Amino acid sequence: MRLKDKVALITGGGSGIGAAVARRFAREGALVAVADVVPQGAEGVIKEIAAGGGKAIFTQADVRKAGDVSGMIDYVVKEYGHLDILINNAGVTKDNLCARMSEEEWDFVVAVNLKGSFLCAQAAYRPMRKQKYGRIVNTSSVVSRGNMGQVNYSASKAGVIGLTRTLALEYARSNITVNCIAPGFIDTPMAAAMDDKVKALALERIPLSRMGTPEEVANLHLFLASEEAAYITGQVIFLDGGASIGI
Ligand code: NAP
Repeated sequence: MRLKDKVALITGGGSGIGAAVARRFAREGALVAVADVVPQGAEGVIKEIAAGGGKAIFTQADVRKAGDVSGMIDYVVKEYGHLDILINNAGVTKDNLCARMSEEEWDFVVAVNLKGSFLCAQAAYRPMRKQKYGRIVNTSSVVSRGNMGQVNYSASKAGVIGLTRTLALEYARSNITVNCIAPGFIDTPMAAAMDDKVKALALERIPLSRMGTPEEVANLHLFLASEEAAYITGQVIFLDGGASIGI
């Protein structure tokens, strides 16, 4: 088991990629905390993990709120005694062309995707610094390179890359690595909500000619959270079937 007795907190763990990471980490022996805004999806994931002989708890948090985030970290440390791995996965979209985008659409997406990742990484630093050990994996996107109709999402995901690189520098002295996964087009509820024409266009741009699966993204999370990745920090890995290569 590659994560035996490691405590792993996964934000947005009740759906899509986060749920796949929670299941995978539990199978690798991690003590999992599934964080989400509402318990519905997370409860199902926790039941599945328990049925497979793993251990998982739910913690409620809206990652936009510093109070929620601080309470979430305290709860995980109280329940499990420490915190080894933070998966900053919670994310949202609210697409529009820049000319039509409202201030609310901008603020909402940047608050969840970028501010949320910052708040969680900041709060997780407290226990990780004390134990002189930590793994943080942030979530960017291939869209960090730019995409029509996603100015808020693209800017937030480009910001996550800057956040990752800076945190990697600041946290290295505490033996905490900080890396970032930039998924392409992954088959989750977020992607299912896309317009069919936009989906078809996105598929055309993928050299491997298919969507990725949440489990494939979870495999990379597992590697970056494991001992095998101990000397990797500040890196951004595109997991996109080749979509970000060339023109
Ligand atoms: P998803 O199925 O929609 O899951 C996102 C999760 O984040 C949901 O559980 C959602 O909860 C939660 N969440 C939303 N707002 C939150 C908040 N304020 N506080 C805490 N949790 C919150 O999406 P996904 O596709 O698995 O995406 C996971 C991550 O990968 C996101 O960061 C996304 O941007 C990124 N990503 C996805 C793709 C893709 O093609 N799927 C591509 C590139 C990057 P609710 O369901 O209750 O809203």
